[in-house]
Amino acid sequence: MILVLSKGISPHDREMIRIYLQDRGFTIREQQLGDEAIIGAIGKGVADLRELGLLPGVERVAATSKPYELVSRETKPEDTIVTVGPVKIGGSRISVIAGPCAVESKAQIMETAAQVRESGAVMLRGGAYKPRTSPYAFQGLGMKGLEYMKAAGEAYGMPIVTEVVSPELAVQMKDLTDMFQIGARNMQNFELLKRVGAIGKPVLLKRGPSATIEEWLLSAEYLLASGTKDVVLCERGIRTFETYTRNTLDISAIPVVKSLSHLPVIVDPSHAVGIRAKVSPVALAAIAAGADGLTVEVHPRPDEALSDGPQSLYPEQFERLLRDIEAMAPVVGKELLRIPQPKAGLADSGKRTEPIQSKESAKVAFSGESGAYAEQALIRAFGEEAPRLPVASFRAVFDAVLDGSAAAGVVPVENSLTGSIHENYDLFLRYPDIGIVGELKLRIVHCLIAREGTAMESIRIIRSHPQGFAQCREFLNQYPQWQLETYTNTATAVASIAREGAAQKEAVFTVAAIAGEVAAKEFGLQVLKSGIETNPLNYTRFVIISRRVGDTAPAPPSLGSDKPNKASLVFSVSDEPGSLFACLQILSEKGINISKLESRPIQGQPWRYLFYVDVIIPDTKGVFEAAIGALKTKTEDFRFLGSYRASL
Ligand code: PEP
Ligand code: MN
Repeated sequence: MILVLSKGISPHDREMIRIYLQDRGFTIREQQLGDEAIIGAIGKGVADLRELGLLPGVERVAATSKPYELVSRETKPEDTIVTVGPVKIGGSRISVIAGPCAVESKAQIMETAAQVRESGAVMLRGGAYKPRTSPYAFQGLGMKGLEYMKAAGEAYGMPIVTEVVSPELAVQMKDLTDMFQIGARNMQNFELLKRVGAIGKPVLLKRGPSATIEEWLLSAEYLLASGTKDVVLCERGIRTFETYTRNTLDISAIPVVKSLSHLPVIVDPSHAVGIRAKVSPVALAAIAAGADGLTVEVHPRPDEALSDGPQSLYPEQFERLLRDIEAMAPVVGKELLRIPQPKAGLADSGKRTEPIQSKESAKVAFSGESGAYAEQALIRAFGEEAPRLPVASFRAVFDAVLDGSAAAGVVPVENSLTGSIHENYDLFLRYPDIGIVGELKLRIVHCLIAREGTAMESIRIIRSHPQGFAQCREFLNQYPQWQLETYTNTATAVASIAREGAAQKEAVFTVAAIAGEVAAKEFGLQVLKSGIETNPLNYTRFVIISRRVGDTAPAPPSLGSDKPNKASLVFSVSDEPGSLFACLQILSEKGINISKLESRPIQGQPWRYLFYVDVIIPDTKGVFEAAIGALKTKTEDFRFLGSYRASL
């Protein structure tokens, strides 16, 4: 049962409600959900719902329709984001955990950690205590193994997760691990759940091989009711009549659990299928079905593994899997989480100055208002909690970054259907002190949005950003009678309809906007039609900008773009035959791939052009620097906009 408290409830009334519930045998859990304060009353208590509703300070009382309460989306509609050190699991990111089945030696866990980290894993897994089906199988190295794993996690900047098999061990292990794993065989070991939950650390709760979704969620309820807030659910295959695979991955559990619960759901494809060659396809299917991440077994030499070798990926296979996930992420509206390498790695790359220190006040600017696509891009890059600074134009984003009111900014530069957003390219020239520190590709699904009750036939006016119109050209061509009104961004167009409200009465039902679904939700409007962009492969490339310190623009720490592999340059060349060719020849001879080349008129110099070039930085040390040095001698006006991590 849930009690939603009145806004501005007095501490006295709140205390009286607590006493009332406790006296009647309830255990209470208090939560702040957005701007609503909620008391969850759990356990075997008895109370009259009507009487409860009349207590001073109670806004409303709701009985949950499920046997679990704390894990239910009815109690908490928004996604829980679980934080483990620098790693976040849930929301719009895909977080990948990897490592061997078991810690076998210090050298083995160190080697694996280095490999999975390099490929993009954000957490290290490994069993120190292995619950094995056979008493004669390798049981793990115990505390020694955990110490090795902690050292490996620290060396490579990854939090660790390891299985805990008994309540006594939970206490001994608590300072060595960052997250506890409750294994499939222990999912209903209630004493273990209670003890681990009470420690308060994040927990990865695997689904039991024969557990129903409800039983699994009730086990998670045990953890939350015992005190931890941070639980990640892990589907790892269930026992069915099929024997070809080790278990059967219940892929439908992913969307089902995500609708029943606010907790993040990840998938363990390794234990689900048990066959190396089948792990990656199943992992990709899990991401497509909406999983918030994966935990994958990887071993440097699977043939020598002491446990689960046949299902462990070779490091190269894992690397390939992460590249595939990165390419797939925008399609499911997510971003593969990457975290910065530890300090030593940063110093090695020698490319960057110290990152800006993360401060609560370090805002990120974007053009538009809540619900704008740029805000979605910002959330992907910096997380939901990043303080945001909405401003009125792209230029204002550059201004905010320049004057320090924002630590970074997010601006679109290119769309896969309509091409470059020239305004932002031109702003880079006007703001020489601003550099590019990151990029991100966002899938854009446009919707036709209007006030509830608006009929398609009554629409006369469509509002959006010119990019919104351009990307939905074919849809708009079917309605030549519609009049287009340009707004500074798509979310503002939606907001304008919501704000007109009552004053316009009838007129308001003749207006619609083109924007994202998030904007419709934000302003309480209705999506009349979704997916109206001309082609579903519609992506916008955003860049993250920051103010330069010396020659480079320091990346905000949350970006994790520690090893830049892409750079943006702009230059002009002399007005004579072969001058552009000479520049391109330098890049060609050094084997540097050009990913984009674009010319823009130089303002005030008719028929002269600037060339904007994006290049892929080769791995070989010094090659890129040499090319830049040579380019400077062949160009007239040369500017290095920044180096950053390419987004696939
Ligand atoms: C493991 O992750 O190492 C493991 C034993 O998994 P499960 O509990 O899902 O079998
Ligand atoms: Mn295993």
